[in-house]
Amino acid sequence: MALMACQSEPPDPWLETVSALQETARNDATAWQLLESLTTEVGPRMGGSEGDAKAVSWARQAMHDLGFDRVWLEHVSFPLWERRAESAKLLGPEAEPLVLTALGGSPGTGGAISAEVAPFANLEEFEAADPATVAGKIAYIGARMERSRDGAGYGKTVPQRSKGPYVAARKGAVALLIRSAGTNPYGNPHTGTISTSEPGSPVPAAALSHPAADRLEQALAGGAPVTVELDLDCGFNGLGTSQNVIGEFDGRGDTDEFVVVGGHLDSWDLGDGAVDDGAGVVTTMAAAKLVADLPERPRRDIRVVLFANEEQGIHGGKSYAASQGRNFYRHVIGAEADLGAGRIWRFRSRVLPEVEPEVERLAMLLEPLDIPWSQDRPASGGADLGQVRKLGMPVIDLNHDASRYFDLHHTADDVLENVDPEDLAFNVAAYVTFIYWAAESDVAFGPVPPSE
Ligand SMILES: [Zn+2]
Repeated sequence: MALMACQSEPPDPWLETVSALQETARNDATAWQLLESLTTEVGPRMGGSEGDAKAVSWARQAMHDLGFDRVWLEHVSFPLWERRAESAKLLGPEAEPLVLTALGGSPGTGGAISAEVAPFANLEEFEAADPATVAGKIAYIGARMERSRDGAGYGKTVPQRSKGPYVAARKGAVALLIRSAGTNPYGNPHTGTISTSEPGSPVPAAALSHPAADRLEQALAGGAPVTVELDLDCGFNGLGTSQNVIGEFDGRGDTDEFVVVGGHLDSWDLGDGAVDDGAGVVTTMAAAKLVADLPERPRRDIRVVLFANEEQGIHGGKSYAASQGRNFYRHVIGAEADLGAGRIWRFRSRVLPEVEPEVERLAMLLEPLDIPWSQDRPASGGADLGQVRKLGMPVIDLNHDASRYFDLHHTADDVLENVDPEDLAFNVAAYVTFIYWAAESDVAFGPVPPSE
């Protein structure tokens, strides 16, 4: 009897296929070649811009070239925002330029304006301020993002950017400056969008680079009034259009179910968008192709969605959820890659409780990559696929190490040179594992009733 207990169980029948897939992925250059092509042939691709239209053509062609069985576009429209010119300087005896960048959705200043600066440590302090101390001034909020592997510090500093410009308007400020919401140590400011759901209109708003924010705070520390001149030429200009680019590989089974992965095709305009979210785009495209290239395709179809204009209000994701809503039952499970190009280090899940043993199987398959299942909270599905998750689609989050992500994110340092090809291939290995596991399975992972 004791001997019986020592006998090892037979290995999981999927393990051999998945191990070989992981090995192939880690030695495969498809993702890197796609990223090189996207960033050099297309470059920056802000929603609705010429670069964005080029990116859509690029993605459609790339999917055809990779052998996707079907590729199609889904129209998306949104208010078109443009950045034209931006500058600021400290006035007075210590006059000097301040490096900054306008926040997405900011109105322009209508030429240079100058006003005294009213400083606040964080958004809470600003919200509590007497409007009389702010009216007619340029408000400044200086909260600093904390660096961490899970990137949690970003969510804490984003409200000063997304909500701050509306608070400033309600208090009668003429403009808002913030300390950049990222951790960029190289002196480049961090853009990102102002909320699209707050009531009212925002004031002109821009983010100072960390060195510029330090310089402004140093000037303010003297206690004497500090005046800044600000000139932002930017704003909305009619309707912008773009497309979600969708491609599918057929599975071998006769089912209309598919596994969905993807990222967002648009980027900010300051870098070439290699990290946000070129990396997510190419990782999921390459992973889908490698799984489809197996001698025997998995049972279910594989869908890749490259979402339009995520950066300025999740326009592609919302539009996709609205158009695909009645087909949402075909989305058996999804995973979105949109946290940069750092190595994936853990995963989270959101599936029906009764199929969690299937997730243990995914954990076993990801073990050789040292990617454990984190059960501290359910997966979110990301900004875009999160819109389908809200309808009940089950999701897995493959979390990237975000320790360095916010040094690059939304800045001029988001460029190809800052992506490590080995990390990229590693992440493809994680995605092929997820895709194979979900597509070969016949388990219904959901629908998961929306919990929030
Ligand atoms: Zn992104």
